[in-house]
Amino acid sequence: MSCDIASHKSMAGQQQVSHYDVLQVAQNASHEEIRKSYQTLALQHHPDKRKNGFDVGKSADSDAFIRIDEAWKILRDEQSRRVYDAELMLQTCREEYFVNEVLRETDFETSQEENCRFHRCRCGGYYILPEESPLLETIHLSCDECSLIVQVNPP
Ligand SMILES: [Zn+2]
Repeated sequence: MSCDIASHKSMAGQQQVSHYDVLQVAQNASHEEIRKSYQTLALQHHPDKRKNGFDVGKSADSDAFIRIDEAWKILRDEQSRRVYDAELMLQTCREEYFVNEVLRETDFETSQEENCRFHRCRCGGYYILPEESPLLETIHLSCDECSLIVQVNPP
């Protein structure tokens, strides 16, 4: 067993429509695909176009245009797209959290040799407690073998 720490701070993740959803493209879409989709959508939702027959729900449409424009500004630039992708990934991870057990520090055993505290997962793997002690806030630990997560509450 290793003492690598895989801990995640508890965060209130909120469900959001991603910029990719807004532009109706896949997350691995090429720059060109994103650009084409943006142009098509921007044209459909552009405030100026509403007068020309696209007038279905005015405020909803201009909101849509703002979101489309915002999404494009992020995704058109390679650098900002990368940053955004990373954020998106984190958010997805949070949504996939499935807390298997809720524990307290006292539920952890101390390993003599490795000088860390652990709790055995039902798969045979371990949850390793970070060294900072006492725990000041609720944390989540992932098993080093499987994808289960435990929540550890402060004393
Ligand atoms: Zn496990």
